[in-house]
Formats: sequence, C-alpha cells, structure tokens
Amino acid sequence: MNEIPTIKIDMDAVCKKCGKKGAYENGLCMSCSIKPLKQALHRELSKMTMDIELIDRAKAELSGLLDNYAVQICKAYVQNDDELTVSLSLKFSPGDAANSIELEVKINFVESKVKDSVKVLVNEKQIGLFQ
Ligand SMILES: [Zn+2]
Repeated sequence: MNEIPTIKIDMDAVCKKCGKKGAYENGLCMSCSIKPLKQALHRELSKMTMDIELIDRAKAELSGLLDNYAVQICKAYVQNDDELTVSLSLKFSPGDAANSIELEVKINFVESKVKDSVKVLVNEKQIGLFQ
C-alpha cells in the first residue's frame, strides 16, 4: 500500500529565514520553502522564452536574406539549365556580453558564387517575458 505523503508543520517553531511562526522540519516556513522552487521555475521559463525568441529572430534573419537575394536567386536559376542550390545556415555562439547569444545567418548559392552573412547579438535580458 502506498503511503500518503505528509508535511508536518510545527506552529510553535520559527522560520530560520524570515522569522515567521510555523516551520517545516527543514526549519523554514511554507513561503521560504517554496521560494527556491519558484525561482528555478522562473529560470526555466525564461530559458524557454529565450529559445522561442531566438528561433523567431533566426527565422526573420533568414527570411530577410532570402528577400535580399530573391532577384539574384531567380536569375541564377533561370540562367542555369540545371538545378540551383541555395544554402542557408544558422550559427549560434556565446556573445561577448553576459547572457547574450551571437546569431550568424548565412546565405550561399554556389552557381552565382554569392555569399553573405548577417550577425546579430540577442540579449537574454531584452527578450525575456518573465522578468
Ligand atoms: Zn520563512
């Protein structure tokens, strides 16, 4: 049989962190016990938001490069009887500033020997929604 998890609160004990009455066996009150969990959750949510924002930014930069070279891509394709390969790449690396990520977006189409790249710094502090 499974045991039901229980939490014992000593209403006479004082929280060793905030001094309020009513502490668990770990010496902390309910709110001081939950605080680290809330902070960890907040950090995880911020990271997730960061990832989504970063990918959105990457999509926008890729789209921008394709727009910039749309005419050349079409010309290159028409001029070549054969196929045309357009390579797009993304590179993520740690930026110089704290909590920043450098995003490098590259376009490269072999037939016309066009190469271009865009580098942007994405700062975690600027884009987090859970601040
Ligand atoms: Zn407390």
